[in-house]
Amino acid sequence: MSSMLELIEELWRLPRHLVSDGYDAALARLAEEVPMTIHEVPSGTKIWTWTVPEKWSCDEAYLETLDGRRLIDLADSPLHVVSYSLPFEGEVSRQELLKHLHSHPHLAQATPFVFKYYQRDWGLCAPKTLIDSLDQESYRVKIAARFEAGTLKIGEVFVPGEVEDCFVLAAHLDHPAQVNDDLSGVVVGLDVMRTVLAGPRPHYGVRFLVFPETQGSIAYLSQHEPLIAQMRGGLFLEMLGNDAPHSLQLSHQAHSPADGALVLALRQREPEAYVGAMRTIIDNDERQFNAPGVRVPMLSLSRVVDPQLPASRFYPYPQYHSDLDNPEIVSQPRLEASRDLVLALLAAFDQTRYLVNHYKGEIFASGFGLWVDYRQDPEGHRRHFRIMDRIDGTRSAADIALELDCSLEQVMEVVDPLLEKGLVSLSDRPQPSDPHLGAA
Ligand SMILES: [Zn+2]
Repeated sequence: MSSMLELIEELWRLPRHLVSDGYDAALARLAEEVPMTIHEVPSGTKIWTWTVPEKWSCDEAYLETLDGRRLIDLADSPLHVVSYSLPFEGEVSRQELLKHLHSHPHLAQATPFVFKYYQRDWGLCAPKTLIDSLDQESYRVKIAARFEAGTLKIGEVFVPGEVEDCFVLAAHLDHPAQVNDDLSGVVVGLDVMRTVLAGPRPHYGVRFLVFPETQGSIAYLSQHEPLIAQMRGGLFLEMLGNDAPHSLQLSHQAHSPADGALVLALRQREPEAYVGAMRTIIDNDERQFNAPGVRVPMLSLSRVVDPQLPASRFYPYPQYHSDLDNPEIVSQPRLEASRDLVLALLAAFDQTRYLVNHYKGEIFASGFGLWVDYRQDPEGHRRHFRIMDRIDGTRSAADIALELDCSLEQVMEVVDPLLEKGLVSLSDRPQPSDPHLGAA
């Protein structure tokens, strides 16, 4: 069994393009670590409004002077060629060449990660310093890229629960020769699954998905539509190795039981962690799970650098989308801290139940030993009633605690006696008792 950092060191340099041999090799290696089902979706398959791309390979790419001095060479880094570049071979003028060379917007010494999946063009990537030094009239370019039919691959690790409903963990494995985005999320998720597999049976199943970004999520969801209703919550794992505190991004619903359970558990463990709304911290595959027609409340956990800075949405850490996103910027202790946090968030979600009232009207509090004398404890008196007001089959105990800014223990102080007397029961699914909503 390899450690998270050992897996990173073994896999990070692979050319893990969207549909590619490098991606497949990395996924096959992960499947040796845990029992994994690999789903294959062929190129050209319609996946909702999208189409699975072709497999892309490039064995040779370079830029050289006409007298044969090599300036950029794919052999040095898979990032030197634009991912999904068209093939090209020939002599080009400096002016034409500059239209096809890409540098990093703020790291002059770094080679950027550039991909063009739909906007077909050829291109090479290099440090800005190198591009700025080009002074010849023409150069020779070769990009031996190939497009062919392949299969987009999704790895799935599933631990069944006591019920069919499940929680989804996800991370993306594509991005050639990069680590924090998002091989870090992949290895954290894998290590979480090793612990879940070895532990007691959870109440809700736990499903871990590894796929190429965006198209992988859509491919999985579109091919497993009946499962969507069972996905009660989710957490996208990304950028978990760099040196920054945790950030938790809420789901589209923002107040789902998954949001409630995870936010409350995070606040207890790491009060300094940042919590923000969807699309305000970092955008990734959680968008597909939260999207219309899907609406799985999927949150996202990352170590984005100061998400309150507007620039951090596009540069979540300085080495983002460059060849500097390498094993030097991640550490085993940080990966382990993220793994332990994910396990704590999962455990909190596993406790989540809706509180269903089997009474109508305000409870006769003193008759059930729930009366708090407002003269002696006005705050406790108010809190008890505020909690009881919210037990209506649409909220969990964590939701109520968050809504009232009190602890889970304070909520359970009121709920426990009601559970004992059969006035409240627990449910995996919402059971709204408001007659205006239809169900009772
Ligand atoms: Zn990325």
